[in-house]
Amino acid sequence: MTKKPRTISEAALYFASPAMCRKLRWPGGKPVCPVCSSTRTGQIVTRHLRRCLDCRKQFSDKQGTLFESPLQLGQWFFACWILYNYPKTTCQRLSDLVGVTVRTAWQMRRKWNAGLSLIVRPGTFEDTIKQLFFLSKNQINEVLKPPKSR
Ligand SMILES: [Zn+2]
Repeated sequence: MTKKPRTISEAALYFASPAMCRKLRWPGGKPVCPVCSSTRTGQIVTRHLRRCLDCRKQFSDKQGTLFESPLQLGQWFFACWILYNYPKTTCQRLSDLVGVTVRTAWQMRRKWNAGLSLIVRPGTFEDTIKQLFFLSKNQINEVLKPPKSR
C-alpha cells in the first residue's frame, strides 16, 4: 500500500510496513548515521541495529530521539497517526489499538504531546513526524520533568 491511510485500519496496515516506516523516518528512506551523517550504512539483522560503514558506529532508527524505546517504529508511527487524527483518544483506547499496555500508551501520549509543544508549525502528519525527529530525547525530558518543589 502506498496511498496515505485514511482510516485506523488502513493506518494499521500502512505502518506495519518497515519500508513505509523507513520512508517516514529518513529522507528518501535512506538511513543516515547520527554520528557522521554518512548514508553508507548496513543493517545488523539480528539486533535491529544499523552500522555505519564509514565511522563503524552502531545505531538504531530511534536513537537519541523522543521515540527511543523498545517499541518498534511502526508502533510509534501508528500511535502518532491516531493521536494526530484523533487527539482525544484515551490511553485505554490507544493501548487497545496499538497493542501495548495502558502504561506504555500513557507514556507514548505524554511524549507525543511534549514533542508537539516544542514544534512551532506542526503541519501535515508527515511534517510533524519529520520535526519530531529533529527534537532530541533531552529536549523532551526537559518538558516532561516534574516542576521543582519549593
Ligand atoms: Zn557514521
